[in-house]
Amino acid sequence: MAQFLKKLGHKVQVIVPNEYPEFLQWLPGNKGVLNYQVDQVKCDKIIAAAEVIYTLDFNAWSRLEKLGKVLAASPAKKVLIDHHREPENFADYIYHDVAACSTCELVYDLIETTGNKALIDKKMGTCLYTGLMTDTGSFRFPSVTARTHQIITHLMQAGVVPAEIHSAVYDSYSYSRLQLLGFALSQKLKVHPTLPVAWFTFTDSELKQFNYQKGDLEGVVNYPFSIKGIQVCGLFQESEGLVKISFRSKGKIDMNTFARNYFNGGGHVNAAGGRSFDKLVITEKKFLKKVTELFNVELAGK
Ligand code: 5GP
Repeated sequence: MAQFLKKLGHKVQVIVPNEYPEFLQWLPGNKGVLNYQVDQVKCDKIIAAAEVIYTLDFNAWSRLEKLGKVLAASPAKKVLIDHHREPENFADYIYHDVAACSTCELVYDLIETTGNKALIDKKMGTCLYTGLMTDTGSFRFPSVTARTHQIITHLMQAGVVPAEIHSAVYDSYSYSRLQLLGFALSQKLKVHPTLPVAWFTFTDSELKQFNYQKGDLEGVVNYPFSIKGIQVCGLFQESEGLVKISFRSKGKIDMNTFARNYFNGGGHVNAAGGRSFDKLVITEKKFLKKVTELFNVELAGK
């Protein structure tokens, strides 16, 4: 989006609320991105001077931590581009579609709708492709449509090389990250004795053993789906004094509502996240209680 706006002649600065994983730090434009946690003073100055603020891929100020408060207070016009459920009402202009497979699909739509498709070059296309790929589990979730593949066709015509991107994102594990995956699957995966539910828990000290870096557990929550019949997966990790949670589901089982109701979170029907301020063990117990209730309701409805 930033590269597109720059091509239209605007002065643009990308700001992220906190560090993003290393497997994305090769993307075109990465060098110019400011991290609010690192460059707060500089970011505050830029935000104070901004005429327009684009908010991408989230829809609640609380998701941005401190940066959310600063943006909420800014008088600049806000443009929300997002595909998560139940957006807060903070934007002057909203481009929101829960059916979109990713926010990058919406950015592409916006570029196309404004008659600027020809401006997409290899660098922009690479960023867009990466967003499409990572948000769709490499094009396998039900959110993928013929339209998604039509976009990919055009991105490839614009110079994007999928194999390079897959390799940059997925063939970039550290040795300890791969070992953590092995530990997760062999030692930490629990499968419910009667429900189609599987989950992981990780303590701080377990993660430290594997030199945990942000992003090292990315995607791990999905692994239990390869067990026949599993319909809900959870991942609970101690992180900076709280428990960070990921949920995934199959079909109509609604993890957005589940995360919103019980774990201070939200997201999509099949992929949501949240936080718990209880201890890990208490959080796990609560999950088991609530997921049992969820399946009681599911079964009663059939
Ligand atoms: P993940 O499990 O990959 O962190 O997140 C899954 C999905 O849920 C993503 O689309 C993410 O944006 C969303 N999500 C994660 N955590 C939260 C949260 O605390 N609140 C809300 N509203 N959405 C979340």
